[in-house]
Amino acid sequence: MAKKQFKTESKKLLDLMINSIYTNREIFLRELVSNASDALDKRHYMSLTDSAYTPSDPLHIFLEIDKDARTLSIEDNGIGMNREELEHNLGTIAHSGSTEFKQQLEKADEVDIIGQFGVGFYSAFMVSRKIVVETKKVGEDAFRWISEGQDGYQIEPCDRERIGTKITLYIREDTKDINYSEYLDSYKVELLIKKYSDYIRYPIQMFIEKTQPKEGSEDEYETVKELKTLNSMVPLWRRNKKDIDEKDYNSFYKTKFFDWEDPLKVIHYSLEGNVSYKALLYIPSRIPYNFYSKDYEAGLQLYSKGVFVMDHAKDLLPDYYSFVRGLIDTDDVSLNISREILQQDQQLQALRKSVTKKIKGALVDMLVKEREKYEDFYKNFGNSLKYGVYQDYGANKDELKDLLMFHSSYNDGYVTLKEYKERMKEDQNEIFYCTGSSIEQIKRQPQIEKLLDKGYEVLYFTNEIDEFSIMMMRDYDGKQFKSAQQADSSIETDEEKQKKEELQKDNSDMLAQMKEALDGKVTDVRISSRLKSNPVCLVADQGGISMEMEKYLSQLPEGEKAKANKVLEINPEHAIFKVLQKIHDKDAEDFSKYTDILYQQALLIEGFPVDDPVDLANKICDLISKAND
Ligand code: ADP
Repeated sequence: MAKKQFKTESKKLLDLMINSIYTNREIFLRELVSNASDALDKRHYMSLTDSAYTPSDPLHIFLEIDKDARTLSIEDNGIGMNREELEHNLGTIAHSGSTEFKQQLEKADEVDIIGQFGVGFYSAFMVSRKIVVETKKVGEDAFRWISEGQDGYQIEPCDRERIGTKITLYIREDTKDINYSEYLDSYKVELLIKKYSDYIRYPIQMFIEKTQPKEGSEDEYETVKELKTLNSMVPLWRRNKKDIDEKDYNSFYKTKFFDWEDPLKVIHYSLEGNVSYKALLYIPSRIPYNFYSKDYEAGLQLYSKGVFVMDHAKDLLPDYYSFVRGLIDTDDVSLNISREILQQDQQLQALRKSVTKKIKGALVDMLVKEREKYEDFYKNFGNSLKYGVYQDYGANKDELKDLLMFHSSYNDGYVTLKEYKERMKEDQNEIFYCTGSSIEQIKRQPQIEKLLDKGYEVLYFTNEIDEFSIMMMRDYDGKQFKSAQQADSSIETDEEKQKKEELQKDNSDMLAQMKEALDGKVTDVRISSRLKSNPVCLVADQGGISMEMEKYLSQLPEGEKAKANKVLEINPEHAIFKVLQKIHDKDAEDFSKYTDILYQQALLIEGFPVDDPVDLANKICDLISKAND
């Protein structure tokens, strides 16, 4: 039988895996047992509608050690694989995310990254010099897959009557540093099953040698073999909360949901009533590597009476909680429910509502009692919440508004809208915000200098979704949001307003001339009451989009690019203002140059590119050359 080569990428990975510095070799057993358990689930599921799949023995996993042959085998009477499946499933490593996997593996030490990338089966090569898989599906012939690692694999027909899969690992010889023989020790294997696979709901069995007094004799002993079930089989989520410690929760999470870090938060509860179910939910402590790609599958696992029904049941969670991993176990769902029915199922809708409420409860609780932890969570998944406010035309805004946090001028951390509102000044009717590319940049925005000076708190929006979400909210508890970069300042006193209007009138000629010089680039040039140390700034005029929105739209690949109606505001207290006043009658050409430079400078401060860098540079050079005339 000709040997087939692994796909190139797979080969490299295999090589890395085998020779890597990866020290946590023992997880190979967990991976193989978990595959076996999935195969048993699949068979069970098929048997619900097709009696050909009904197993003759109860579904189980059987482990066997042969010390002389140095083999450890893992056998299941699950779904099995046919030739094509063997080829496809075991001939390709890392169906997805392989590059990422490679990078992780190269820097990995103790982190557990094997399960995460769909390469579980191959982890067995860390301890085996050769692997043989014998497998048979209902109604199909049996096949054997043999591989010694990098140099490929072969598939051949074999004699096997039993449905299911047997994986035989030929354990490597010990080296000076690594004791591979421990995986041939039944005691060690039992420990590993307890450690990683205790909750597997099928019995994992092995013959264990036991020494006992010989029958009819008092001082003679004999060694007998006894079939022992190594795992307790009670799914973790069905156990009593008080019998579960953090370690159990965490290791279950890592194995089941392919993360190498402990979760940030565990939400485990049981509800009886209108909807009855048990839930074990996790909030990850980091963003899954593929969270923002289409590979990421949101949703919870669905179980019915402890039996697996479906993976990634999306309808159990609103989109904005798609980072939540976990499972729901309910008695109210039929086992062979399809995804389509799931969507319409009344009971499921009620479940979703209840789960959503519980997650919110847990988040609010964390916000109040574990602020630091909440901020960690928010750094990772805050955007999902903001996006949730924006989505569905704001249908969820009330649900989410109190979970939102933003940076603000108040401190270096995050503030909630509630906290902002509580700190608002007596005369303050609006929630001020300012947008920019970073907090540092916003802090230096000319438009907020006076606001801050007068003691108003300003929210700092560094992400487009910030502004999108509050625009969808419109207000928070009756307080409107107000951009500091928008025309029409609402914080000026009557006195300031009057003074501004007078100046506007007295300088109307000059302002009109400036507007003309800018030739349609701005809708108006006005006296400002918001500036302090800066000579000019740009603000967005009423009735148009914001400047941040303009920037965002300009990045989109297609479509008409709407622009903000920009107003150039000028600071009457600034020395430059006096200069402009002086020259505007005298030298129209220089005046127009100054105006343009000021405008371009305001663009830059606002984070826009200048219209024509060469032209701007020439104008500046020209003025510098004249400076000593
Ligand atoms: P993953 O389990 O993450 O998909 P693996 O490399 O561990 O990746 O396994 C690859 C595939 O091989 C599995 O998805 C499954 O389809 C198949 N497979 C592995 N072990 C078994 C088994 N014991 N019985 C049936 N199919 C199996």
